[in-house]
Amino acid sequence: MIPIIDLQEEYRQIKLKIQLVIEKILENSSFILGQECEKFEKEFADYLGIRYGIAVNSGSDALFLALRALGIKNGDEVITVPNTFISTVDAISRNNGTPVFVDIDPNSYCINPKLIEEKITNKTRAIIPVHLYGHPAEMDEIIKIAKKHKLFVVEDCAQAAGAEFKGKKVGGFGDIGCFSFYPTKNIGAYGDGGMMVTNNSNTAKLLRMLRNYGSAKKYHYQIIGINSRLDEIQAAILRIKLRYLDEWNLQRQEIASAYNKLLNKTTNVPNGNYIKHAYYLYTIKHKDRDKLQKYLQNEGIETMIHYPIPVHLQESYSYLGYRRGSLPRAEKVSKQVLSLPMHPFLTSKEVQRIANLVNNFSA
Ligand SMILES: *Cc1c(COP(=O)(O)O)cnc(C)c1O
Repeated sequence: MIPIIDLQEEYRQIKLKIQLVIEKILENSSFILGQECEKFEKEFADYLGIRYGIAVNSGSDALFLALRALGIKNGDEVITVPNTFISTVDAISRNNGTPVFVDIDPNSYCINPKLIEEKITNKTRAIIPVHLYGHPAEMDEIIKIAKKHKLFVVEDCAQAAGAEFKGKKVGGFGDIGCFSFYPTKNIGAYGDGGMMVTNNSNTAKLLRMLRNYGSAKKYHYQIIGINSRLDEIQAAILRIKLRYLDEWNLQRQEIASAYNKLLNKTTNVPNGNYIKHAYYLYTIKHKDRDKLQKYLQNEGIETMIHYPIPVHLQESYSYLGYRRGSLPRAEKVSKQVLSLPMHPFLTSKEVQRIANLVNNFSA
């Protein structure tokens, strides 16, 4: 059996270091908003080349609080894509905003900048590009449109830690960048975790209050916030993993190149010239996707579908009134995408075997 991701192997590689820091935190018994969290916020922001990092409980809370800090409220429209994890869109509705979906560029699976302006109204406040699978969205064009129409940009970087667009790491192009440390992500905690990054000191202050009951000073609550923090054990684990992120991403890129070489051209995944893909997922397209998935499963290859139902066709968002056919490109790829095993410890033999099976099935 070849699993889609191998967290046990990752743990074996760093086991002693992890055990040591967990032991240390248990002995110190400082568990919330301590040294480890503060250090990790700084180290993660430095890694990205961004001024401020504010850690939270999840990527979902990062997106939710980012929109809250930017003042998204009742009836405000926020533009995003339908082919994403549900929480990108929930962040908008949890702030009582209205999600507005823009179709994707079939070459990158990311938001198609050419289709954004026709969806802008006088209620539009922000755009959330999603760097899907680790492939950066077209940030130049998106920022240009946002500036022209005075819109905020919140990057959903949950799948793209370490990815670059034109030599610059994603997260710092817009007003706030949001990361997830869900265990399977390129840098994952041993539980939930997330981070918001920004270059704006006022925004950083506000985010810091929002994640801690709206408080900047103990027993004083200036605004209404929530409890969403990254605990010390997770922060310490993430500090260790951050030191491996570039190396592991490089291994992902090498595995992706091997797949690209071996697989029939029709199934290859997008990778533009001026981007550095983080390859959170290696997701191919196939017209007989469901049959291919069953075939691979019978051969002992685990695969997943990201995502089988676009958000605009989910029951929870039926109130928005989108119908089948309203976002044709996103709908089409949802029927064709299949994520193959991808993690830094996949061997070339395994890649060879998976690619052969996919090619045989297609032949
Ligand atoms: C994982 C993910 C999130 C949410 O992160 P959590 O930490 O699981 O809350 C948001 N957006 C995308 C695109 C994701 O992949």
